[in-house]
Amino acid sequence: MDLQPNPLSAMELIASEPARIVQGRKAVCDGGRGPLGHPKIFINLDKPGPHACGYCSGIQFEQAVHHGHEH
Ligand SMILES: [Zn+2]
Repeated sequence: MDLQPNPLSAMELIASEPARIVQGRKAVCDGGRGPLGHPKIFINLDKPGPHACGYCSGIQFEQAVHHGHEH
C-alpha cells in the first residue's frame, strides 16, 4: 500500500505553476508539451479565478481582470 497517490503532492504541482493570464473569455489548450499534448480544447473563463485544463494537471488559465468599466 505504498503506491497510493498523495493528494498533497498533486496540489503542490498545481500551485507550482502560476495561472496563465488570458485576454478574453476563453482559453485554448492543446497540451503544448510534446508527448503530453492533447486535442485542442477551449476552456470557458467566465467565472473568476483559475480554471484548470481537463487534460493537463498543473496548468491553469485565468481571465485577465480589467479594472473599471469601459463604455
Ligand atoms: Zn491542456
